[in-house]
Amino acid sequence: MVSLITGGAGFIGSHLAEALLARGDQVIILDDLSTGSVENIRHLRSNRSLRCFIEGMMDRRLLAELVDESDIVFHLAAAVGVRRIIESPVRTIETNVKGTELVLEAAAKKLKLVFIASTSEVYGKNGKAPFREDDDTVWGPTTTSRWSYAASKALDEFLALAYWKEKRLPVVIGRLFNTVGPRQTGRYGMVLPTFVNQALEGSPLTVFGNGKQSRCFGYVGDIVQCILRLVAAPEAVGQVVNIGNDAEVTIGDLALLVKQRTDSASPIHFVPYDEAYEPGFEDMARRVPCLDKLVRLAGLRPTTPLSAIIDKVVAHQSARDQRVMRTTRRRSRDLLSTQPVSTLD
Ligand code: UDP
Repeated sequence: MVSLITGGAGFIGSHLAEALLARGDQVIILDDLSTGSVENIRHLRSNRSLRCFIEGMMDRRLLAELVDESDIVFHLAAAVGVRRIIESPVRTIETNVKGTELVLEAAAKKLKLVFIASTSEVYGKNGKAPFREDDDTVWGPTTTSRWSYAASKALDEFLALAYWKEKRLPVVIGRLFNTVGPRQTGRYGMVLPTFVNQALEGSPLTVFGNGKQSRCFGYVGDIVQCILRLVAAPEAVGQVVNIGNDAEVTIGDLALLVKQRTDSASPIHFVPYDEAYEPGFEDMARRVPCLDKLVRLAGLRPTTPLSAIIDKVVAHQSARDQRVMRTTRRRSRDLLSTQPVSTLD
């Protein structure tokens, strides 16, 4: 099998590439490194079954060639992170909508199977729990930038389903709930890597709002296995499926758990939403997936407990911090040894 992963140098994409290579597949990664990083796939680069293209999605010809060579396309390239979405709404809408349109158009020529990574954000502020795939979406006004993400991903879903209906392009749509694990960066605002960094540095853990909002965190390794099972299930074609863990935790309790697992003395600071994001920011109070459809189609559900996930994230971030410290020390030593003596005075 040849698999094309758009966004393959990203957090989830790199774990997916790893799993596909481990089972003997050929993998092509297309990534513009806007939020992904070479660091995420450095350990895979000596694998001869992997090819990487550091390019954007908008090069229609390249995309068509890569899709042609592949048996399946995992379309993961998208704007990520609530903070980034608020800061760069044009980029969010364009990346999400145009990128998906181009992938579907290219795949439709030879009816290649496409997995579209969508998001639980699509449900919006529908106060219900758990969310079932056929529940209504409830968004706020267009003047609140956050909702542009939900709307752009919903449009991706509509388009993918339309391609299936009208052109018989086989598509599977996964609505990913909060996915966490090693290699996820806190740079775009995601809560778990942010808390772990803060705890390891001994700086305050920043809980936004009153910390009573809750989320369900799925381990990336579990999520990848669910995606692989879903694309192998013929009945999943043309379906929208929730993918996540359904164990719920409040963000306040998450901060306490991170402190406990890292044995950190960091204080917890509560930051009002207006300060954390922008005036008028709306958060979701809860976001719990109903996993019945996933279990029926994939025969699997994410189960790694939160404390075990936190331990993996802590181990990864500590190892990375140590690598950075070693490199900084080596560079300073090299610099000192090449400086003329007079400048050292
Ligand atoms: N959050 C927080 N502190 C942070 C980052 C995020 O309290 O430093 C909160 C955020 O307001 C939300 C939850 O953690 O209620 C999850 O945020 P994230 O951006 O990880 O994902 P979301 O579920 O909002 O897409």
